[in-house]
Amino acid sequence: MQDFNYHTHTFRCGHADLIEDEEYVKEYIKMGFKKIVFTDHCPERTLIDTRVNIRMQYSLKNEYLANIQKLREKYAKQIIIESGYEVEYLPGEEASLLELKKETDKILLGQHFLYDRNKNLKIFGSKNKFTKEELKEYVNYIEEAVKLRIPSLIAHPDIYMLGRDSFGKTESEIAHRICEIAEKYSVPLEINLNKIFSDTYYKDKKLNDDSIQVQRKRIIDIAYPCKEFWEVVANYNIKVLYGIDVHHKGQISLFNNLVTLANEIIGKNTINKLNFITNDEVLLESIPFLKGCFSVTQDLRGHSSALRYVCVKDGITYFVKIYKNNRIEELDSIQSIYDRLGIPTPKIVENGYLEVYDKTYVIYEYIKGKTLKELTEELEVEELEMIGKMVGNYLSKFKNISDNKEILIKTCNSEFESLIEILFKIKKNKFINTDRVIRNFNYLKEYLYETCPSFIHKDVNLNNVIIYNNVPYFVDTDGGKISFCALDFRGICWWTWDGDNKLNEQAMYRGIFQGLFNNKIPDNFHKEIAFTIYYEFLLKVQEAFVNNDHDRMDFIFKKFGKIFAKTNYFENYKFEWFS
Ligand SMILES: [Zn+2]
Ligand SMILES: [Zn+2]
Repeated sequence: MQDFNYHTHTFRCGHADLIEDEEYVKEYIKMGFKKIVFTDHCPERTLIDTRVNIRMQYSLKNEYLANIQKLREKYAKQIIIESGYEVEYLPGEEASLLELKKETDKILLGQHFLYDRNKNLKIFGSKNKFTKEELKEYVNYIEEAVKLRIPSLIAHPDIYMLGRDSFGKTESEIAHRICEIAEKYSVPLEINLNKIFSDTYYKDKKLNDDSIQVQRKRIIDIAYPCKEFWEVVANYNIKVLYGIDVHHKGQISLFNNLVTLANEIIGKNTINKLNFITNDEVLLESIPFLKGCFSVTQDLRGHSSALRYVCVKDGITYFVKIYKNNRIEELDSIQSIYDRLGIPTPKIVENGYLEVYDKTYVIYEYIKGKTLKELTEELEVEELEMIGKMVGNYLSKFKNISDNKEILIKTCNSEFESLIEILFKIKKNKFINTDRVIRNFNYLKEYLYETCPSFIHKDVNLNNVIIYNNVPYFVDTDGGKISFCALDFRGICWWTWDGDNKLNEQAMYRGIFQGLFNNKIPDNFHKEIAFTIYYEFLLKVQEAFVNNDHDRMDFIFKKFGKIFAKTNYFENYKFEWFS
């Protein structure tokens, strides 16, 4: 679900529910929205639109803004609230529109009317037909407003279909012009849900609770959202979003159904092609550091469940990571362990907790250079082994931090048991012999328990070390904890070592193990590593099980089955390339 809505009116405009603004806020929170904007129909300093009950009076402006500010503070832990207006552009009104913009966070351009030849307001409505010339003027107004950077987005850009009978050549030309403007100036377009609402759940201006099947039948010849208009949009590089255009409290809880109906009108094909603003993009806007960044792009290298971005601010590149929950203290303490041991890792520049999202963001310094993975594709075996040794030497420093073994074994046992339980819960395991897996898992575990616990990175793999100026920087350090050293390599065993990994990768790992054990890799390390393959398998099974992802589960069983078969099980297996 889109968890933000930038289009909300209030009682002040005269045609919305006569309720306190706070009522809307509570409803949004109940529905799980994280960010909303109040955008009531804007006041006019000098009245031009003289219709009654259409927009707030100028005298109400300060109270409106003050109330939003009050709500913003009161609900700051639950939802982000911004202020704004829905405005129409009119030639001559530029200064007052820019003034409204200055006082608020977001301006929606909802161009409901334009001047006709006699400088009378001509208003979009089902009974008012517009000429081709007038539609061109409609786009001119949009262009002027956008050029002046007045709107943050364009509300119901397809509202002009109210003034036309069908979508033909002229309507298409208008759509293309709007899209060219939106693309050129990077202004998002809104799929407005209010007309759907008033034709269905609010038919005859009374809220009904008929089923969606009944509502669907009520949508006949709806002017907007206009299917053909959005087909045009899908061919441009334009951001889009849904806008509930709330005038009634009841609209908010109907959001998902209104989106379903809108998607049916526009068509699945087009919806899939449209470039929707994501919840994550909106979340990023709430990180103070990212304001004024030159660019923020998602980083998709490697495997990670956290959101990762690269951003540039004042010419300097940073790496941004967003974690679930409040992990500030934990991440700071992991960083201090690396600092204390002199193990290179990117410095934390800034971090913070986003309470509304229950997420932690960390801005790290950006390490240029190449990952071990990239180097294995460029360098020779001898060089790779050397680099591996250097990495392993740093890892061996972790051994200076240890903890009580008995407590750790207890924790591990309960984790391992719960993993095994999941394996029993899954019926289909045609690729493996469950009993044998569990027997081996428990047998190999004892070798793990013989070793001494220490601090570990938790996922040393070829993507998580970057070499820059001949120094290995450890990244993805957020899993750092006290554990058994072999578990640091669970990821490599699953992803890299599947029985046919390349010589170069073997060389890198061989180097790492040698560095870690000061050239004397213990014999039993083979068994510990074998254990981690089972362990990683069970972790993956758990993840797929929790997400109820059957395709993934199949993949995991197949892959594990393949490793299993290739190695004749692990009971006495030796990794020949170790030494
Ligand atoms: Zn309205
Ligand atoms: Zn509106």
